[in-house]
Amino acid sequence: MAEQCTWCGTAVDADDGFRVAEPESERRAVFCRLEHVVPWIMQGAHWEPGRIVASGEPDDALGRCALCGDRLGDARVLVVRHRDHHRIGDAFCRIDHLLDWAKGGGRYKAAS
Ligand SMILES: [Zn+2]
Ligand SMILES: [Zn+2]
Repeated sequence: MAEQCTWCGTAVDADDGFRVAEPESERRAVFCRLEHVVPWIMQGAHWEPGRIVASGEPDDALGRCALCGDRLGDARVLVVRHRDHHRIGDAFCRIDHLLDWAKGGGRYKAAS
């Protein structure tokens, strides 16, 4: 079942797009592409209730912020990219760091 981008309303296929969540607050958002995370955060990040990983599954990626490398606390923000059957997770110590990361094009900006 397709979801809708939290920012622009475009249908997002189950094997495409980005899922963003605050595991501690059990709230989530869905994006058709990473660029839409940026205006969403700048407008105040309107979440929907829910989770993006099943309870008991890891929800902190590598345990460190993908931007600054700090150890994650309870208020971390998790981002999972869906690409076909791949699920690529990154986590951030706070939403500001997700914003900076997304502005910079995410982890693929330097991909060769
Ligand atoms: Zn969108
Ligand atoms: Zn950070």
